[in-house]
Amino acid sequence: KSGFVAIVGRPNVGKSTFLNRVIGQKIAIMSNTAQTTRNKIQGIYTTDESQIVFIDTPGVHKPKSKLGDYMVKSAMSALNEVDAVLFMVNATEKRGAGDNFIIDRLKDVKAPVYLLINKIDQVHPDDLLPVMEQYQTALPWQAVYPISALEGNNVDDLLTGLVDQM
Ligand code: GDP
Ligand code: MG
Repeated sequence: KSGFVAIVGRPNVGKSTFLNRVIGQKIAIMSNTAQTTRNKIQGIYTTDESQIVFIDTPGVHKPKSKLGDYMVKSAMSALNEVDAVLFMVNATEKRGAGDNFIIDRLKDVKAPVYLLINKIDQVHPDDLLPVMEQYQTALPWQAVYPISALEGNNVDDLLTGLVDQM
């Protein structure tokens, strides 16, 4: 089984951290500064029976300039060339305009979209359900995974689910 998977989400939700964990090498650039990772960065996750190529799409945010507009369009076009899309949000923050901007654009994507609720290591278990409810009906998710990209919680489940679906 093999396929291409793109990861999308507003700056600092943990996309690069997730990719670094999954591919086991520091390929993506981690930073607290928005938009450090400007280009699509690909990493490959392989097991005995599967190979997934991950594509980082850091440029999807409400554009403020012509260059920004170009970057959003370029990043979004990548989402139409993959087998699955991972949409990552931050469990420690409320759903905001940055999330909604991406959700609106994901409505046109044909590939299955997974919702990753990241940074659950910073959220009390009782507070997780209200966070999930904010996103539950936003899109017809293929599946929803609360994860910690930093500590690894549920990341194996997600990878197994992704491979199973391919
Ligand atoms: P990106 O902009 O979406 O690529 O986000 P980064 O991967 O660069 O992460 C932004 C910040 O969030 C960094 O300081 C990370 O260490 C932190 N971070 C990412 N994932 C997690 C997580 O699961 N838990 C916690 N506590 N912090 C995280
Ligand atoms: Mg990044």
